[in-house]
Amino acid sequence: MTLQTLDPRAPWVISTHDLGRRPGSMRQMSLTLPAPANLGVEMIGVPADADVELDIRLEAVMEGVLVTGTAQAPLRGECARCLEEITSETEVGFQELFFYSAEDAAEDDSLLDGELLDLEPVFRDAVVLTLPLSPVCSEDCEGLCSECGVRLADAEPGHKHEVIDARWAKLQGLVPEDNNDQES
Ligand SMILES: [Zn+2]
Ligand SMILES: [Zn+2]
Repeated sequence: MTLQTLDPRAPWVISTHDLGRRPGSMRQMSLTLPAPANLGVEMIGVPADADVELDIRLEAVMEGVLVTGTAQAPLRGECARCLEEITSETEVGFQELFFYSAEDAAEDDSLLDGELLDLEPVFRDAVVLTLPLSPVCSEDCEGLCSECGVRLADAEPGHKHEVIDARWAKLQGLVPEDNNDQES
């Protein structure tokens, strides 16, 4: 829990002015907000400034404002097996109680700054939880050829290489052709 001064013009800072503080008072909102920067894990995330569609409900309760909502955001990343670009979408749900007073709140709880609350950390946490650590372009992606690095989904079916152990390769050069014939 950190006391911070919120910028009312920041896109993810929501005003509760119209809601008031009377418990039971409620407001629904549909918003489109630009995705915050650096939202993702190593191989996948929400592109900065992409449109995030939010449906939220603000509800005044005794201790503060309860925010319940869903968000839809585009995802962009890289397949962990073949490195092909992946685009998809995530939908997350979240709920957070923003306390009026730090006295009622615990260490990790969120606080209102006057009439303002910051939805960005709540959205960020909800999204990061849904992101796969090893995203794949398709469940059966075969990845890359370990010999030449070609993406196997793009290669001829049955793509493979004659693999000759380096030690055998040397011997093959030393042994005359007809000796090989006798052995086989
Ligand atoms: Zn792949
Ligand atoms: Zn290959």
